[in-house]
Amino acid sequence: MKKNATNKPALSYERKNFWKEAPQEQQKAAFSFAEDYKSFLNEAKTVRESIAYTEALLKKNKFSAVGKKGSNKVYTIFRNKTIAMAVIGSDPICNGVNMIAAHIDAPRVDLKQNPLYEDSDSTMACMRTHYYGGIKKYQWVSTPLSLHGIVIKKDGSLLDISLGEKDSEPVLIIPDLLPHLARKEQYTKNIADAVDASRMNLIFSGMQEPGNDEKQAVKAYALKLINDKYGITESDFLSAELELVPAVKARDAGFDASMVVGYGQDDRICAYTGMKAMLENLGSKPKRTMVVYFSDKEEVGSQGNTGAHSIFIQDFIGSILAHNGEANSSANLRKTFMNSQILSADVTAAVDPNYPNVHEKQNAVVFNQGIGISKFTGSGGKYGCNDANAEFIAKVISIFDSAGVFWQSGELGKVDEGGGGTIAYILANLGAEVLDCGVGLMGMHSLYELCSKADLYSTYLGYKAFLLSQ
Ligand code: MN
Ligand code: MN
Repeated sequence: MKKNATNKPALSYERKNFWKEAPQEQQKAAFSFAEDYKSFLNEAKTVRESIAYTEALLKKNKFSAVGKKGSNKVYTIFRNKTIAMAVIGSDPICNGVNMIAAHIDAPRVDLKQNPLYEDSDSTMACMRTHYYGGIKKYQWVSTPLSLHGIVIKKDGSLLDISLGEKDSEPVLIIPDLLPHLARKEQYTKNIADAVDASRMNLIFSGMQEPGNDEKQAVKAYALKLINDKYGITESDFLSAELELVPAVKARDAGFDASMVVGYGQDDRICAYTGMKAMLENLGSKPKRTMVVYFSDKEEVGSQGNTGAHSIFIQDFIGSILAHNGEANSSANLRKTFMNSQILSADVTAAVDPNYPNVHEKQNAVVFNQGIGISKFTGSGGKYGCNDANAEFIAKVISIFDSAGVFWQSGELGKVDEGGGGTIAYILANLGAEVLDCGVGLMGMHSLYELCSKADLYSTYLGYKAFLLSQ
């Protein structure tokens, strides 16, 4: 506890600023930690790419599939979109696990299933889109986008597509309307309607075969180019998953380079710090089993077979019980969850100097003061939230304090200002203690989310201490 000049415990609570109070070597470590983090953001721009990145890192650290005898480092990937990894501790797993639960999907703009058309007015080949998650549509126009995803070819083979990330590759654009002609179309509308989703069509190409008189020659040529490059035809789009994400790379931000700006930090920042925390704990001998779980579909409600509502995480815990020679009966699985402690690792909204009024400052997360904990999320009268228990919050705070982790407590915005949810309540429904705990971002859900390196590093240290805790 902080002491004042007379060496008595301070009566008032004050947050600590990382740059003011963290030791020099920790400040240096925060900067170097951000380097690999930026490469992760650049390599893992989609759910599937996040899974591929994670699996490669796990294999490098000698993790194996659940069930492989003798291994205490295991993981399972389900449908290439969700993953759970564990380091088995010396205590029985049914005594409960320590879990970091993050999500790896991020708001984006998907191609429609039958996307390609030729627009006769402009004589351009275009593609129709359907956005995913909570985006402000105006942010996605007139900005370079890259195309990522997979196509399952007729022969069943899988084609991985990534276009627009390399400097040598073209990017794709949904053009915005010029201000000169926007008076009626946009300026009279409210900001949510100013860019109509049905007009978020991508300019795909403009060339045509020389001398070709056929109708729709631009679309025909686009299909030829697609076929030349990828060996696919128009009907292959119908089953494909193709997503547009910002083509720009994550990079340092601020004159002091104390921040990182990049796409998809909600919630890959918590996924990355959770995974790194587990890997950096490999040298320790944990008593409780450490689990890191990445879910999908959080941005659209966590449903489906890869969302946090799916059976996957329960099945994973059941499978590591069996792996460890423990009963994986329904009763023992329930007991395991009810004995577990989980950090719902998701980002929160940090105070933005341009919009301080949407927060109540005394209970808001600000940059540079460490990992943020939120007793509840939700909206209105805490509707739809997981309300973490006082006992568990106190426990997590004491874990952070013992490890010298910078932390702060904050709500996502002022009461009745809006709100948001996380997967916390879904896991809490299984009986575990769950606390929302993650990084505060500015510009969340935009193409260029901003985080502080101090908070990034503090979150990693916080997760690391939590995973090893009793
Ligand atoms: Mn999130
Ligand atoms: Mn989100």
